[in-house]
Amino acid sequence: MIRARLILVLLIFLLSTAAKAGSTVENIRVWSENEKTRVVLDLSHSTDHNIFTLRGPDRLVIDLKDSRLAESLDVLPKGAGSVRSIRSAIRSNGQLRVVLDLTKGVHSKSFRAGPNSQYGDRLVIDLTRAGNLQPVKRASEEYQSGRDIIIAIDAGHGGYDPGAIGRRSKEKDLNPAISKELARRITAESGMQALLIRDSDVFVELRDRVAKARKNKADLFVSIHADAFHNSRANGASVFALNLKGANDEAVRQLERRETAPVSVGGVSLHDKDEVLASVLFDLSQNASLSVSLDVGARVSREMSKVTKMHSKEVKQKSLLVLKAADMGSILVETGFISNAAEEKKLRNKKHQARLAGAVLAGIRSYFYTNPPPGTRIAMDVRRIPSSQVRHVISSGDTISQIAEHYNVSTAAIRRANKLLTDKIRIGQTLSIPVFAGG
Ligand SMILES: [Zn+2]
Repeated sequence: MIRARLILVLLIFLLSTAAKAGSTVENIRVWSENEKTRVVLDLSHSTDHNIFTLRGPDRLVIDLKDSRLAESLDVLPKGAGSVRSIRSAIRSNGQLRVVLDLTKGVHSKSFRAGPNSQYGDRLVIDLTRAGNLQPVKRASEEYQSGRDIIIAIDAGHGGYDPGAIGRRSKEKDLNPAISKELARRITAESGMQALLIRDSDVFVELRDRVAKARKNKADLFVSIHADAFHNSRANGASVFALNLKGANDEAVRQLERRETAPVSVGGVSLHDKDEVLASVLFDLSQNASLSVSLDVGARVSREMSKVTKMHSKEVKQKSLLVLKAADMGSILVETGFISNAAEEKKLRNKKHQARLAGAVLAGIRSYFYTNPPPGTRIAMDVRRIPSSQVRHVISSGDTISQIAEHYNVSTAAIRRANKLLTDKIRIGQTLSIPVFAGG
């Protein structure tokens, strides 16, 4: 027992002195093949580091904590491939900075490698020449294939159907603002694409909205609305999951007539017919899609409650009439009450619209990361097991998507590794960046 404890104490001592001593860069190796350049820093042992790129001229900077170059390394190797030259300096904070001067348009990816039979701890930087493709797409396509998850976004109403009417705005004009913001955010996500059912002030038949979503193989249908009630104090958002029941054509036609003819009471157009809209809109008959709808709905509702008052925190279920079977989850989001002056004002506010869109996206994201449809990019990403982790300390101006592009991993992988549900990061925060084998 005592001996074991002694060894442990000794081990801790050794480990702590090792950490204090920092690392020595024993060698730097550079070679280039085809369009790829690899730079390897052979380290005495692994140490904290930070890698970032700078523009004008293009260069890649590697800061190694408490490190120095080995004395034997008095001449740094010449550049090769995308690396023009290599420089180094000791910074005042004790960090060793190695700078790779790059040729233009280079993507970088770095990872740590542990000792093997030939080498010890290494820091590996791979540089690839950027083609004409968009950098973000390129970065994600490079390491995986798989289809995007498609989210159909239906901005409720349009054309001769104004939807609910507030003092200053009509639902058909408000819904597209939030819908477009949501679409923009979805498309900016790695592994997701948005499909706007309508992007101008036109009326699209309910059946055609669903048909368009189905034709584009949407994974989820999100209908964006605003509520109204004769009591102008009613307020708050709600989320509906859609339950599906069969209906005959006559019932559908009746409901469609009601949907497009808003009820007017005392000169105020009421909007109790979103329920009707929902009932006609979705022809999704399977229980599977109902459970999807309930699950997505609960997550969206939870996220929305962080940014706006909820009329109901429960995800309500709507009974829907079925036109034809399909398996697409679907939710209806009531963003707030347009009939409430204060809430109408908020719904017209760009910042509030962005917050709502962000919350809906966070809910959708949370669902699809947990339940990625097979064959999608996100499914592949979620299943991959990183071969190592790199630590990245957030500095001013960093965004998740820039960091993802920089390390050539997806934003999804970074969020998953750090259990992030939103893209909020703060300066000084350390993110662990998953690095996948084969790079
Ligand atoms: Zn509506």
